[in-house]
Amino acid sequence: MNTQQLIAAAEHYFVPNYGTRQLVLDHGRGAEVWDTEGRRYLDFVAGIAVNALGHADPAITAALIEQAPKLVHTSNLYLTVPGIELAKLLVETSFADKVFFANSGTEAVEGAFKFARKASYGQHLPDKTTIVAFEGSFHGRTMGAVAATAREKYRLPFMPVMPGVRFAPYNDLAAAEAAITDDVCAVIVEPIQGEGGINSASDAFLHKLRELCDRVHAYLIVDEIQAGGGRSGVLWSYQANGVRPDILVAAKPLGGGLPIGAILITDQVASFIHAGDHGSTFAGGPLVCAVALTVFRKLSDPQFLAHVREVGAYLGQRLGELQGLHGKVVEVRGRGLMRGVQVAGSAAAVRDAAQEDGLLVATAGDDVIRLVPPLIIERHDVDEAVSILRHALEVLD
Ligand SMILES: *Cc1c(COP(=O)(O)O)cnc(C)c1O
Repeated sequence: MNTQQLIAAAEHYFVPNYGTRQLVLDHGRGAEVWDTEGRRYLDFVAGIAVNALGHADPAITAALIEQAPKLVHTSNLYLTVPGIELAKLLVETSFADKVFFANSGTEAVEGAFKFARKASYGQHLPDKTTIVAFEGSFHGRTMGAVAATAREKYRLPFMPVMPGVRFAPYNDLAAAEAAITDDVCAVIVEPIQGEGGINSASDAFLHKLRELCDRVHAYLIVDEIQAGGGRSGVLWSYQANGVRPDILVAAKPLGGGLPIGAILITDQVASFIHAGDHGSTFAGGPLVCAVALTVFRKLSDPQFLAHVREVGAYLGQRLGELQGLHGKVVEVRGRGLMRGVQVAGSAAAVRDAAQEDGLLVATAGDDVIRLVPPLIIERHDVDEAVSILRHALEVLD
């Protein structure tokens, strides 16, 4: 099939939930991908903040080749070495004492809610089940995670979703105080909101959430699915705010493109979780964990994080210059290699124009261009991306 036939076949056979897609990607290397027409793109989407080490990373390929002929899947009835080593590394590099593996971000969020509810069940108040989430949040697509996802378009057509979620405005200390009452078992927050438009929580807000959770004996869940794993320039984005969570959910970059999620919890939470309380057939398998171990060793390496900070600062600086040059750039937000450019107009129009010019970017909401490149990019990649973006912004004139 040629490219036009492939696109037509996709229209014919796929559920139309993703809309029409125009690119059929064929292969990649580092921060570059090529489509079936042989056109090259600089990839500042990275599989939506997933391909932290870029495409065709040799260490990932080597881990796959080494593990695939040994064992791919066993179920959680048995232990395997890669999962144990990955759990050990996740604990040693974080606040957490225990790890649960899942297969995706939304699944990690579901598990976190179950753990928080189980650990609160019968404690302090019999109906201590409310979960507080924030405006602008995105936590996933399944019935629990979508219940805590603010955007009505994602949630309302699927009612009734999981009951017991209360929304409060982001970065509003007084509203948080009013929302976090004795019936609350958990508060879930993105230290940097992704889908919601690349908004950062203030230090004061996150410290207030910690204080309020302590006051009412609720668990603080940080959703690090997009901002975590080094993207913000520190391993977990909450570390920049100096708060201590009880539960952390991670996913996107962990498997270098293979599906894996993780829930990191304290011993206090884990003490309420017993055999049979939760589980997954696929999660934590030896193949995905062998790859994730390779990826996470890199992501947690201080030198690698210093590289993200250095190139991330350069990206921030270059995007800041765009704001001066172009009247349609309203604001540049984010940290490290997670950046949002808010425009006066349609972010999708700019995205499409950039794609025409050989740069892949995503959007976050209607008016924010989201840049979440592989963490291995260099300054010359930033220069190329900013120059294409500058040209693409002209569609708004
Ligand atoms: C992508 C994302 C999720 C959902 O992850 P999936 O793997 O798509 O289920 C949850 N929270 C945040 C912050 C995300 O960016």
